[in-house]
Amino acid sequence: MRSAALALMMPLLFALGCAGLQNSSASPVAPTPRVRILGIAQDGGVPHAGCSCDTCTAAHADPAKRFHVASLAIIIPTDDADPRTNDVYLIDATPDITEQLHMLRDVRDAPEGRTDRAPVAGVFLTHAHMGHYTGLAHFGFESMHTQTTPVWCTERMGGFLRRFGPWSQLVEKNEIEPRTLTPGEPVELGAGVTVTPILVPHRAEFTDTCAFVIRGPSTTVFYMPDCNPWNRWTAPIDEVLAGEGTDVALLDATFYSLDELPGRSLSEIGHPPIVTTMDTLQSMSDAGLDVRFVHLNHTNPALDAGSAEQREIERRGFAVAREGAEIGL
Ligand SMILES: [Zn+2]
Ligand SMILES: [Zn+2]
Ligand SMILES: [Zn+2]
Repeated sequence: MRSAALALMMPLLFALGCAGLQNSSASPVAPTPRVRILGIAQDGGVPHAGCSCDTCTAAHADPAKRFHVASLAIIIPTDDADPRTNDVYLIDATPDITEQLHMLRDVRDAPEGRTDRAPVAGVFLTHAHMGHYTGLAHFGFESMHTQTTPVWCTERMGGFLRRFGPWSQLVEKNEIEPRTLTPGEPVELGAGVTVTPILVPHRAEFTDTCAFVIRGPSTTVFYMPDCNPWNRWTAPIDEVLAGEGTDVALLDATFYSLDELPGRSLSEIGHPPIVTTMDTLQSMSDAGLDVRFVHLNHTNPALDAGSAEQREIERRGFAVAREGAEIGL
């Protein structure tokens, strides 16, 4: 009886794209297209350079308390018989890319005992702030020396890479190949998965900023590690998420609340605090939208699994994203 019930449930679980389940990296789901979370920290990571706050001190003492900079992998199986044979795409190339590529060993048919010069099938970049693209340096001559790795980005981001060193050298040596994204136009990755960029409001000193809508056969993931507070958007975020048919939203959660930033007002803060996001999306979350928080600053108390803030997030039906978790597409 029990196994029959399970057999009935399994297709249902896959039909749901395993949304809502936060699997550990130790037990990846079956070879279906999926997203794997490679990092959940803000650009400076945890521990943060030069910081001796309790979170950073604990992270220096215990590697289990470290968090990588926010990044996703999209895993597209290309051989049903071999779970190590996949096309793997990165969203953002972070300063933690060495560790994050290591987190993908089990889904890469990489050469044994030497450097893999084609570690990913491509990279999608959100924008040119240090946590999101500087890992590209490892694609260059001094490190992996890849060959024509496609790097999808906006026209402005592509111009930035072509124009300024050291990135221009990666382009000149054909280590990376910038490919222009057009907002709203999907890029097909195979297995029924597409990635669609949308422009979002965020500090734009060097480039504009994208969120990515990752659509699979059964699940749509909305990934937005950086954006302005919701009251500075022209379109309400709940309408944006609904308009994209979002099942799982991985959203900018740099700060938990203004308490973290004494003496500063909401108008000075460049990100939507978690408490505001929960208020804004509570009814969508109650109706089944799976909202998980990413891009947490080292000051964010919700990083601590035992904190009152993370418990409050869970009580309200939201979650802090977990590194290594997978979301079936
Ligand atoms: Zn960032
Ligand atoms: Zn710190
Ligand atoms: Zn940014």
